[in-house]
Amino acid sequence: MLQMVQKRFLQIARNIPEMRQFRNNLERSKTVGFVPTMGALHSGHLSLIERATKENDFVIASIFVNPTQFSAGEDLDKYPRTVEKDLEMLRSLNVNYVFLPSTSEIYGTNPLCHVEPAAFSKIYEGAKRPNFFSGVATIVCKLFNIVQPTVSYFGQKDISQFILLRRMVDDLNIPVIVKASPTLREADGLAMSSRNVYLNEKERVASSILVKALQAAVDTCELSSTGSTSSTEMIDAARNILAQEPLVSEIQYISVASPHDMSELSTANTQDGAVISAAIKVGSVRLIDNLLVGQAKKIIYGF
Ligand code: AMP
Repeated sequence: MLQMVQKRFLQIARNIPEMRQFRNNLERSKTVGFVPTMGALHSGHLSLIERATKENDFVIASIFVNPTQFSAGEDLDKYPRTVEKDLEMLRSLNVNYVFLPSTSEIYGTNPLCHVEPAAFSKIYEGAKRPNFFSGVATIVCKLFNIVQPTVSYFGQKDISQFILLRRMVDDLNIPVIVKASPTLREADGLAMSSRNVYLNEKERVASSILVKALQAAVDTCELSSTGSTSSTEMIDAARNILAQEPLVSEIQYISVASPHDMSELSTANTQDGAVISAAIKVGSVRLIDNLLVGQAKKIIYGF
């Protein structure tokens, strides 16, 4: 007997009215899972989408390379764009709807308002990327208003982004649940990222040093007899590992921060938890990654 596999039909909305119409046609009692992306999809993105399909009645993804989160000199123009391949992946995952707007559809001609998470311009990642957090908060706020999801999924890979967005829905009373999903990694530990395509073969091999360095920092705290260490000791442990790899051309920062708001900690302990994150360059390619210490896992994931 022929087995009928019921594939959902992927619909594409290229403008806001179409997206709203789809949303308005759904019964309000049904849940909508939403996964915002900038495309060039890889298994890390797909893990968020798979989770959204398991946990919700309907799933919406968006693909939008958001110009306002890039600063001058960053890679907006060369950011990988693979829309047709992305759509094929979304079809195979039974996503119901993809929102694929143009920049003018999203920002119009002369927007007056945006979301400014002032404290995040001071954290290390914000200082290195001046437009990043205000660009991210603004686009996600706009997408939430357009899509009106029940739940939205974000990767631990971009931990400060996740912490900011969780705070944003709380601070601004936006009725969306923001959930974190674990970082998907290559076999050697490198966190998957759309930007990994910029690495040449040698740099790609060297890049796995980043997670090893972060793990050394975590171990310094978690394996200490008191479960507590100075952040300097953790950072030194990470630096010692990074120093072993000549292709690491720059250490932009190594941070030990609070899982509640990414403020820097002078000491870390397993009870309160901490986020250890870093940005480095391998050759000319910027990589970020992070690991959670102790109870930070409970704070980020809720269990
Ligand atoms: P992006 O397209 O880079 O804006 O990423 C879209 C979403 O996918 C964000 O919530 C990212 O944190 C998440 N993401 C990116 N890389 C990974 C990964 N390796 N594992 C899990 N989630 C990821």
